[in-house]
Amino acid sequence: MTAFDEFREHAGYDLVGVPPMSCFDGLPPGEHPLSIFPDGKSVIVVGAHIRRGEFRSMEEGSLWKTPGRWLTSFEGIVRYIESEGYECVPYAPLDAPKMPKRPVRDGLCAPNAVRLSVEYAAVAAGLGDIGYHGMFMSEKYGTRQMLGLLVTDMPISPSLMSAASVCDKCMACVDACPLNAISDTASAQLGCNGHTMQIGAINGNACRACPNGVSGDSKYFAGADELHFEIVNNQVAGDAKSTFARGGLPNRLAAACGRACIAHFEETHDTGYKIPFRVREPWGFRPDEKRGW
Ligand code: SF4
Ligand code: SF4
Repeated sequence: MTAFDEFREHAGYDLVGVPPMSCFDGLPPGEHPLSIFPDGKSVIVVGAHIRRGEFRSMEEGSLWKTPGRWLTSFEGIVRYIESEGYECVPYAPLDAPKMPKRPVRDGLCAPNAVRLSVEYAAVAAGLGDIGYHGMFMSEKYGTRQMLGLLVTDMPISPSLMSAASVCDKCMACVDACPLNAISDTASAQLGCNGHTMQIGAINGNACRACPNGVSGDSKYFAGADELHFEIVNNQVAGDAKSTFARGGLPNRLAAACGRACIAHFEETHDTGYKIPFRVREPWGFRPDEKRGW
């Protein structure tokens, strides 16, 4: 068994975590990380800090540039694991043509049915929590990191769980949304590895139409909450009362809600920057306003 601290030194990422396998007990096969490597012994979650400048032009409304939220390159960590004599499978959401829609043998998941939640695994690994706006936040960087997940047959001891909550329920993300898409009253509790988070109900259709900095990325990366609800037509299946849910949300890191969280995080944490992120009133549009945006 490789000790977690030793593994972290070699992994070479800003954030490294190994959740206990028991965190995934009871998940349907398509949501269980071992579905991508049935002989795996450990799940690894890694994160790379996104520099603040990646958000500057969207904050100013001067250039439509959005940082990615998912890591797609794992060369260094894969080389290290293989140098130790083990293999690993980095997770990638795929919708390749000709991909079988049924399992290749009994007991496996169909390749096109795999939908892992990287954010849920990151919380389970003790790297942070899901904020009220539904995005992953770490104690060190707030929302500013890209996450990735790998499964390996290298046995690694699990990382320690942090008891601290990163989101302080300031509601800056709620107030900043020009579409009123995040409810300040309706919310759900999400439990993960002994950690409980309160996540606001979100009008996913509003986010998909939002002109304030969202970007599309793969629809095959589930959010943390999507592990726990079946989403049909932007509603929790079987629940007539839940008008709003978070199924298939776009990348909102640089949207008005995400940038409000960055600004608030800087007011409450030392990020080392000499000038605050937010230096003027934020901008915002509604899609139902008169044409002009
Ligand atoms: S803006 Fe405030 S309430 Fe919203 S996720 Fe960030 S810390 Fe939590
Ligand atoms: S993405 Fe846009 S609509 Fe959705 S919560 Fe953020 S600011 Fe509001």
